[in-house]
Amino acid sequence: MDVAMMQQDWGEMTLSRRRFLKMCVSTAVAVSGSQLLMTLGTSSGLGERLVPVLAYHRVGFTTSDLTVSLQRFKNDLQQLKADGYTSITLQDFMRFIDDKNVELPEKPVLITFDDGYQDNYEHAFPILEQFGMVGSFFVITGMLGQPERVTPEQVKEMARHGMSIGSHTVSHRALAELSAEEASLELTMSKATLEDLLGAEVSAIAYPRGSYSEETIAIGKSCGYNAGFTVKEGTCIKHSPDFELSRIPVFRFDGNLRQILRKRAGLGVG
Ligand SMILES: [Zn+2]
Repeated sequence: MDVAMMQQDWGEMTLSRRRFLKMCVSTAVAVSGSQLLMTLGTSSGLGERLVPVLAYHRVGFTTSDLTVSLQRFKNDLQQLKADGYTSITLQDFMRFIDDKNVELPEKPVLITFDDGYQDNYEHAFPILEQFGMVGSFFVITGMLGQPERVTPEQVKEMARHGMSIGSHTVSHRALAELSAEEASLELTMSKATLEDLLGAEVSAIAYPRGSYSEETIAIGKSCGYNAGFTVKEGTCIKHSPDFELSRIPVFRFDGNLRQILRKRAGLGVG
């Protein structure tokens, strides 16, 4: 995937179907070898846990490409259950990539949401609970309580119910385009706000607009983060780079989740 694509955020993109189909084809070609590994799975003796990290934005009624319907989200979770996946918390995931002795269930999945929309609380959260599953919500702290966004109380409630919370910075600006000082403020302030709110450590970030640089990673580490999620497509493994973690975007125009996993689940190790 080219650098320009990495710099973009699904939340900001004007999506064209053709563009994404094109992107998917190029990704599929690049990862065809990995697809075989996916198919073989962990029972093959290869000894590698593959962790698809799904990236949703909204679950609701708007017609954006970034919004999936409630029924569609239920179907996705139903399929994950039927296929034997176990949803894991952000903490479990981070322990896994940090420590070679930590292992996960055989078919783990991390279900993430970016941007902290109100519908994450109203729709995604109760559906996850209904299925006995957990999600990880990357919220924009400067937008908490604004129209259509989650409130601090809602974030706390979700965390109390076992959901994980991560930072999506204060203002959702592209970190690689900011000065080191500004980027540092985005990272430290959002972390501090969430930690004050939750009374627990928050050490994962999803980069707004997928924008990050070597400097961003260095700042993130110095601020106490342990993990950074990109918008590069792929599946994580134990040895994935902690601050360049791939995810699998889920769009409104997609077919079902099995197809998405087939198309976009190549190992994102770069
Ligand atoms: Zn975003």
